[in-house]
Amino acid sequence: MVYATKEGNIIEHNRLRMTQRCGEDILSVNPEDLIPLPEGSELFILPDRYPLGYDINHNKIETINKIKGKETFAVAAFISPAHTQTGIAGFIPKQDDLKPLPLFAYTAVGWINDRFWVTAFRSDKDKRQDFKGFDLKKVKKNTVEALKIYPENRLIQHLGKCSLQYGCPAAKNFFLKRYEAPLPTSPQCNARCLGCISNQDDIDSPPISQERIKFVPSPEEISEIALLHLTNVNKAVVSFGQGCEGEPILQADTLEKSIRLMRKNTPKGTINLNSNASLPEKLNNMIDSGLDSMRISLNSSREEFYTKYYRPKGYAFSDVLRSWDIMKTAGRFVSLNLFVFPGITDDEEELNVISGFIEKFGLDLIQIRNHNIDPLWYMKKIAYKKPEKTLGVKNFVRILKERFPALRFGYFNPPLRD
Ligand code: SF4
Repeated sequence: MVYATKEGNIIEHNRLRMTQRCGEDILSVNPEDLIPLPEGSELFILPDRYPLGYDINHNKIETINKIKGKETFAVAAFISPAHTQTGIAGFIPKQDDLKPLPLFAYTAVGWINDRFWVTAFRSDKDKRQDFKGFDLKKVKKNTVEALKIYPENRLIQHLGKCSLQYGCPAAKNFFLKRYEAPLPTSPQCNARCLGCISNQDDIDSPPISQERIKFVPSPEEISEIALLHLTNVNKAVVSFGQGCEGEPILQADTLEKSIRLMRKNTPKGTINLNSNASLPEKLNNMIDSGLDSMRISLNSSREEFYTKYYRPKGYAFSDVLRSWDIMKTAGRFVSLNLFVFPGITDDEEELNVISGFIEKFGLDLIQIRNHNIDPLWYMKKIAYKKPEKTLGVKNFVRILKERFPALRFGYFNPPLRD
């Protein structure tokens, strides 16, 4: 187990082993479930939260709130993209009424053999967001150049801020002319997700970590960026639906016009829509105009958990399913952006419900991304109840692969053509 001091030092405990959270359960960790802390990950010290350790000799979990009279703090890892967590950091709050932690995933981390280890696995070989792949000098040079060349394009100016100020990997890849480029378009949203990184309006909300775009770019501004990427980048992907916006499907008419402009000028690359899939009636026009793929975001395939998390305004879970059906019926590529939360995702009931939908509609890919949310706050908000049986995240994936051999697993939107 590792813990932190008030001064910010992270220290390994000389008796206790690390623990992990799976829903309500605090468990010891099987070394086989560990990988070295991936490069580019961050370590967080959790304010007013005590670490939980495992006493292997007495087979019990212990709370460590003081060492040598000094208060201790829990530590968690925010693991780098393309890695999926299988265990959440083992900690308990100092008191009940704490403000929720910011919107990051808090993965279990420990120390041995002179390094940090986490309960996770690499879920996508694609290197598009690998830390060492970003030449930050080149990012800066290319971004500044592009902002000069396209002073009138408000969307490029917005992405310039995302690249230079927020360090958004998608925006950086656009300016590096490689992989997937972001096309944010929507200031509004028709959901009120508990974990929305760009909009929070409850008194007990976590802080937002991303400013939302304030304008709807024109089809010309959107397609100018998209064409720069689609025509100059091999296996390019351009994606509507980013962290710095609301819901793109609310701008369907603008998206449709911009996709028509893109396809009028090039057949190259993949045009993708990351969405809450709330307005199925808006999809056919976008499909006709050339939309290639859609990624549907889900915290759970169970309506009860979905509704408590998304708090939809003017749509229901059935609309999301209709969108899924329309895209597959039109022969488009559909992936799920499944927010992985050990204790919820790997619940046997979740496995069976999601299998039913895959059977019914078909599915190409599940992006197994970590749920960026305070685990205790989230479970309280969705009135989480301990499930009959949890399988473990890796097992959940293995069983789905056995049931649906053609179903892919990953972390990123794949290119569907050159
Ligand atoms: S759908 Fe996206 S933009 Fe809308 S509330 Fe949820 S996370 Fe935020």
